[in-house]
Amino acid sequence: MIMPKMNVESFNLDHTKVVAPYIRLAGKMTGTNGDEIHKYDIRFKQPNKEHMDMPGLHSLEHLMAENIRNHSDKVVDLSPMGCQTGFYVSFINHDNYEEVLDIVEKTIHDVLHATEVPACNEVQCGWAASHSLEGAKVIAQAFLDKRAQWHDVFGEG
Ligand SMILES: [Zn+2]
Repeated sequence: MIMPKMNVESFNLDHTKVVAPYIRLAGKMTGTNGDEIHKYDIRFKQPNKEHMDMPGLHSLEHLMAENIRNHSDKVVDLSPMGCQTGFYVSFINHDNYEEVLDIVEKTIHDVLHATEVPACNEVQCGWAASHSLEGAKVIAQAFLDKRAQWHDVFGEG
């Protein structure tokens, strides 16, 4: 299928060719002062085959967004993909891919050791009833089990 060139980088990626889980550089921007933003896709689930259920995904988002900042002060944003198969993470002035994998791995360990979901209340969250710590841990463990594949977007080994 021939697709028109899209503005969003990942819309130009053939999602039938990727093999989850993986972490891939999805974009890079340089500001007028030379600061650089690197954006990564963290794909947890195989596109169009699997997805994360919302309560687990939502708790995973809270846990990762809060904890990843303990491992790097260069994180700009971590947020879920609407297709429920992964997350985006962006860093400023940090372009070491292997370190990104290590930062994500440490964050996943935090998820597995968590005893509560941060900020899952009606003051700090927009849908505080939709959370599952256990669901987040199941997703995190499955992702960590395939740590050796994270660098490999297309399953090339
Ligand atoms: Zn929330």
